[in-house]
Amino acid sequence: MDHRFEKILLKIMPVMVLIPCLICVCLASRVTGLERMLDAREAYEELGYRESRLVELTGYEAEYAAHCAGLTRSLKGDASAESDKETGEEYLREAVTKADTDGDVQVNLVSGTEWDGVHKVYLTFDDGPSIYTDDILDILAEYDVKATFFVIGRDNPISYDRYNRIVEEGHTLGMHSYTHVYDEIYASTESFAADTLRLRQLLLDVTGVMPRFYRFPGGSSNNVSATDMHDLVDYLDSEGIVYFDWNVSSGDASGGSMTSEQIIQNALYGIEDRETTVILLHDTASKWTTVRALPGLIEAIQAMDNTVILPITDDTTVIHHSI
Ligand code: ZN
Repeated sequence: MDHRFEKILLKIMPVMVLIPCLICVCLASRVTGLERMLDAREAYEELGYRESRLVELTGYEAEYAAHCAGLTRSLKGDASAESDKETGEEYLREAVTKADTDGDVQVNLVSGTEWDGVHKVYLTFDDGPSIYTDDILDILAEYDVKATFFVIGRDNPISYDRYNRIVEEGHTLGMHSYTHVYDEIYASTESFAADTLRLRQLLLDVTGVMPRFYRFPGGSSNNVSATDMHDLVDYLDSEGIVYFDWNVSSGDASGGSMTSEQIIQNALYGIEDRETTVILLHDTASKWTTVRALPGLIEAIQAMDNTVILPITDDTTVIHHSI
């Protein structure tokens, strides 16, 4: 009896060992297959992300080239200069520098704020939203700082998210023209009004907030407008919109040649001597150095005595260039 049982056991044993082994082999091959599928999916998603990023960057580049070409035409009165991006950048730099160095900055004082006697610094970002808006917002959140974004019109879901994030995180959403194409917005008061209303409606529809502040592309002291800037200021007045120029430029618009250290140095200029400093910065795909400079700039300002960083509000002392 025992002998028979042993025989049966000997026959069953290999089967008992073999079955789990086979199951293990099957499972291992299934796991490998799933891992491959997962890798493929991740690669596919990465590709999709890169493609969308590339499309976005290409869009910005084209828009920037058109912007520079438009500016060149305005300044030269020469339609053949349309594709001359380099020259456009050069003129843009000159226009910005001229506005920055215009020593005759008019300051209209608004008194009675809780910050009387304190140095107030306003970080203002022009030309967004861009691929860097989220990076800028992350840094501002990290340092618990509120800023002001003078945005242009971008009618797509990614930009809607960025407009909304600006508002939801307590920053001021200002206007900087819908198209930023100098030839179009500065052609007449009517075209300026149409551009402004188009942007205001977009921002109102997307965020539910009516924007009340404006920054002229090139500043109010720009010398490219075909229309008397006083007329455009009167128009903004009639709409209850307050415009802001700047009294310090970070220099981050100057063709990408500026290092983060130089941007910080420029932006800090004269803060301790002024009660109100409005710093011009940019939020565009071509201005990565601005993002790199931002933490150091905020840390330097926060280390100053009797100095605060604030978003632009109705209480902010208005900074206007002479026009
Ligand atoms: Zn601009």
